[in-house]
Amino acid sequence: MTRPHGYARYRLDGCRCYTCGWAVAQYNDAREHAMRRGTWQPYVDAEPVRVHVRNLQDCDMGLRTIAARAGVDRKRLQAVLNGRPERGTPPQQQMRPALAAAVLAIEPTLENLAPNTPISPLGTRRRAHALIAVGWPRQHLAAHLGMTHSNFNAMLASPHVLARRALAVRAMYDALWRADPAQHGASARGIRDARARAAAEGWAPPGAWDDDTIDDPEAFPDWTGQCGTVEGFWAHRYITAPACQPCRDAFNANGRARKAAAQEGTTQ
Ligand SMILES: [Zn+2]
Ligand SMILES: [Zn+2]
Repeated sequence: MTRPHGYARYRLDGCRCYTCGWAVAQYNDAREHAMRRGTWQPYVDAEPVRVHVRNLQDCDMGLRTIAARAGVDRKRLQAVLNGRPERGTPPQQQMRPALAAAVLAIEPTLENLAPNTPISPLGTRRRAHALIAVGWPRQHLAAHLGMTHSNFNAMLASPHVLARRALAVRAMYDALWRADPAQHGASARGIRDARARAAAEGWAPPGAWDDDTIDDPEAFPDWTGQCGTVEGFWAHRYITAPACQPCRDAFNANGRARKAAAQEGTTQ
């Protein structure tokens, strides 16, 4: 299952290549422009809406779902997209701004995707790993999701997860990240093993993640509250977690800068 580079690949597979980034940036500009224009004109250009619907369709959203989310009749949306061939009318040039705004506001979020749409497993893995890091045994998480232990492991190892699974894991994470596994029947040994495994794998706990960025492929866990800085590098020692890559990078860059400054000093 491979989507071509572009909007859907960026949104659903987390691709951050140049082509995807460019497509989304261009697209966001046009969409924001269209949304702004809609606030004061009696009719607006229908083309940005068609582009948006095509992008949503690329994300495997059906026209029925798109129409339902926009609160509009599917036939009306079809007239915008394709015109009415049976009456010989072409696709609409213009449309009412309220309808345009309603359609443009729809995003291919987890809730809006068809349940079996395959998407990037990144956010799902980070959430499951974060729960394991604070002591949730895998068996408990699998049971919470109504999955077998082996299906749960297979899901975390797979290059894609289904949207409905990602949604279920997100709900589980929201429910459990602050809860105490011991009060939910996890044994002391199960908790210890889960934590040890996460420590060995370098999995970040919920405290290192931000709800807004946990699905972002470019986000990194902030273990120390100042990760990505030299202070962060030293702070890792206090929490006895090995320094993360952004902290090591900051530390090394700082070392190089100091060495360069020292060399300049000796040559003067
Ligand atoms: Zn790409
Ligand atoms: Zn760090």
